[in-house]
Parts: sequence; structure tokens; C-alpha cells
Amino acid sequence: MKEALLYQKYDKNKVRCDLCAHRCVIHPGKAGICMVRENINGILYTKVYGRSIARHIDPVEKKPLYHFYPGSKAYSIATPGCNFHCIFCQNWDISQLTNSELLESGPEATPEQIARNAEQTGCKSIAYTYTEPTIFFEYSYDTARLAHEAGLKNIYVSNGYMTHEMLDMIRPYLDAVNIDLKAFRDKTYRRIIGARLQPVLDSLKKIKQLGIWLEVTSLIIPGINDDTSEIRDMANFVASELGADVPWHISRFFPAYKMKDVPQTPIQTLRMAKAIGIEEGLNFIYIGNTSNTGDMNTKCPQCDYLLIERLNFGILKNNIKDGHCPKCGIKIAGVGLY
Ligand code: SF4
Repeated sequence: MKEALLYQKYDKNKVRCDLCAHRCVIHPGKAGICMVRENINGILYTKVYGRSIARHIDPVEKKPLYHFYPGSKAYSIATPGCNFHCIFCQNWDISQLTNSELLESGPEATPEQIARNAEQTGCKSIAYTYTEPTIFFEYSYDTARLAHEAGLKNIYVSNGYMTHEMLDMIRPYLDAVNIDLKAFRDKTYRRIIGARLQPVLDSLKKIKQLGIWLEVTSLIIPGINDDTSEIRDMANFVASELGADVPWHISRFFPAYKMKDVPQTPIQTLRMAKAIGIEEGLNFIYIGNTSNTGDMNTKCPQCDYLLIERLNFGILKNNIKDGHCPKCGIKIAGVGLY
């Protein structure tokens, strides 16, 4: 165990964790909502530092990030645990662990080992993903600093529930983020996720202000967040508060974890969401988790020229020239687009 960052000490050995918007006040001998951070005699510890329960080399498109060094590889790591308790979690077997022994059971890998492995395997970046990087902040922070020294980029794939203090601290080392905007109704966040909507919206705006490359993902779940007015609210927020050039990934739901009784999202619903996103002014909308590869291509928002052709998570062709459309010449939003 390692002493946590970003917490305050109170009287009677109580502490308050300032890592995520839950801001848990934790009594001695107790853990926070994530179960990952525990108060031992007035000191807050993280149980998952160095516990890399998952390590894979993924295409960066799988995060998903479509406008950040397309076609590159991301060395992807996770520790056990999460600060959300989504009943539809796709990675529940590693994110929803509450037992102390299981949380501390991941294979050990130091930040130095992670950075070295990423470099040796030809990865462009390290992605902190699969579970929630906020709850393994200390591990990701130490790794991210070493990654930058080695010339690697850092990516968070996150639920967006981190505090502004945390974002300010990781900012010098964080190059790109994909945030899940899981719904646009606070009651949905409270009922099936165990969190609130507003802190996620605040994080999205803060990430944009900090100048970190941002893409947004919304999993569309039948009967939960597939109402046209809610989808319009999501798309309108992304376009008006974050910018028309922020890529929006509309993702297809498949039954999982405690939500096996809900059917997969119909393709028509995803197409309807895309049409709404276009009406709201978004320039880059992608449909994920389907077999229709045309929905993954990048087209010029001005002249409709095919810029990046994708197959599954691979790049078939990248026509972008020096970051611009080769046909009409407008600059295409993104980082390392070629
Ligand atoms: S990371 Fe969030 S859930 Fe975990 S202890 Fe801190 S404030 Fe609570």
C-alpha cells in the first residue's frame, strides 16, 4: 500500500479524499466508495498502486480515440476497482471488486516497468483504461511522468468524475482523454451508476479549458438514455460547451453484468442519434460496437472527402496531409493526424 495523494486530514483521524467528486469522508479503518482507498490511523492509503490487473497493447482507436495519432498502438493498463457502480459495466469482473484481497491481488508492475514495456513494444502512448484511472491516480501519475521522459504520450479513458484538483495535477503529463458521458439525466446517474451528472459535465469543460485533446463516448442503452430529447441534450452539450470539433462516439449497448434483460441497441436508434448530432452541429460522429465500418470513417466536415478509412480498429487509409483535408484544405481537428 502507498500513501494517497490529494486528501485532507480532519479531527479524530478522519480524512477526506479529494480525488473524485464523491469526496468521501473516511473514518479510521474504513474505505471510500471505490473501496480502493483506506484510512489507516488517519493516513489515507491506496491499495492498488502497482497492481496492473490488465495489460494489453491496443490500437488507439479501441480507446476510442480517432483523432489522436491514428493507427498508433497504446500500451493499456488497469488496476482493480472503480468509483462508479454501473449496473451495465462491461468490465465488471475487474472494476466491481470490493474485497480487499481481490483488490490487492493484481500482478505487480512498477511505473518504470510499464514505461519501459510501452517503449520496447513500439507503443506511441500509455492508456490508463478498462477500469477508472481516477482511482489509480498515484500509479498513473508516476507512470505518466516516466512516459513523458521516454517520449511517450498519456491517455485517460475515464468516467469524468475526477476533481479539478486532480486534473490540474495530471495536466502536464496528460495528452488525450476519452470521457464517457453515460446519460444526460441526473436521476439516471444516481439510479444505475451511483454518481451525479454535474461533476462529469464540469470535468468535460475543465478538460477542454486545459487544452487536453478530448473525445466523448456515449453508450446508448434502450429504455435508459435513448429518448430523442436526451440524446439531443447530450449532442447539444458537446457541440455548444465543448466544441463542434470534439469527436462524439455513439456506442452500441450489449447486455452485460446486472443489465442482461435489456436488448442490444437497435441500429436505427444509433442512426437517429447520429442524425441528431449532425443537426446539433457536431463535425465528427462515430458509431461504435457495430459491424458497419462506414460509421467509423472520418470525413471532411466541409467537403465530405474521405479522410481516414477504418476497418474494425485498424486504419486502411489515411488521406490527411499535414493535418489538412487534401481536397478543400481545411485544418482537421486532432493531434498527430499526419
Ligand atoms: S477516489 Fe472517490 S470514491 Fe474513492 S475514496 Fe476518493 S473520493 Fe471516495
